[in-house]
Amino acid sequence: MTDYVMPTQPPREGWDLHCHTVFSDGTRTPRQLLEEARDRGLHGVAIADHDTTAGWEQAMHAAEELHFPLMRGTEITAQCGCVSVHMLAYLYDPNNRQISELFEKTRRARVARTKKMVELLSKDYPITWQSVLEQVKEGSRTTIGRPHIADALVAAGVYKDRSEAFAHAVRTGSKYYIPTPSPSASEVVNAVKDAGGVSVVAHAADPSRNLTLLSDAQIEELAGEGLGGLEVWHRGNPESERARLLELAERYDLLVTGGSDWHGAGKPNELGENLTDDATVREIVRRGAISLCD
Ligand code: AMP
Ligand code: FE
Ligand code: FE
Ligand code: ZN
Repeated sequence: MTDYVMPTQPPREGWDLHCHTVFSDGTRTPRQLLEEARDRGLHGVAIADHDTTAGWEQAMHAAEELHFPLMRGTEITAQCGCVSVHMLAYLYDPNNRQISELFEKTRRARVARTKKMVELLSKDYPITWQSVLEQVKEGSRTTIGRPHIADALVAAGVYKDRSEAFAHAVRTGSKYYIPTPSPSASEVVNAVKDAGGVSVVAHAADPSRNLTLLSDAQIEELAGEGLGGLEVWHRGNPESERARLLELAERYDLLVTGGSDWHGAGKPNELGENLTDDATVREIVRRGAISLCD
């Protein structure tokens, strides 16, 4: 550890390290992400599409053209015991074999599982695999998932927006729900480490995603394997849980990050509503295998 000082309050300015684009389930392009971040006065943003680096190139070009700082990242689908976890990975080498194979496997599994869900749903709702694919903006370069099913249900007039679909037919636990077979959180931590990046547990204690949260012992174990940090400043983490996460971060020397989980029009989350302070960004950069762009 260097002279890094862990923040104990949500920063008022800094970087939004958790943003999605059309390369997964966001509704805006990487360029639109950077333009909006610049207009909102953020210090920089991280692109963090699900299980892919497909949006990195467009994001890098936009960062250069707009002279706006970009951190390259990914939100990786994982499983820790019975807890579904998302891991943010930053500044790792995208050519690393282990991590690119892991993404390919998850994306294949996502297509198969999403197709199966559509088969089940199509018995009761007016959607088809074709109508779901019509909601996918970058073809096979987009990581597919339930949000695209939700959008097809909205296009068919079943629900008024994505969130309504997520409250009903596509919600976790509905009779149509099928989980995505995912790597373990420990595998992800190790793959990110192998690729020279920094891993952070996304929305590390969000009770709306799981019946049980990651325990102290599970976080301790991941920290022992090389986990880099916890996303504490996120709308899904309740206040009492934030205190626990800060305590764990202090105990295991973990970085504390924040992000909006922006999906453009796909979710109510506002770009920059949660931020990571500059000192933490500098520490991620110091540890990472690749640099920031602008
Ligand atoms: P999947 O990974 O295919 O199971 O889909 C889950 C994704 O759907 C998450 O990554 C969220 O970004 C998105 N999602 C979950 N709940 C909502 C919601 N209420 N409105 C919009 N998107 C959501
Ligand atoms: Fe998402
Ligand atoms: Fe997530
Ligand atoms: Zn996310």
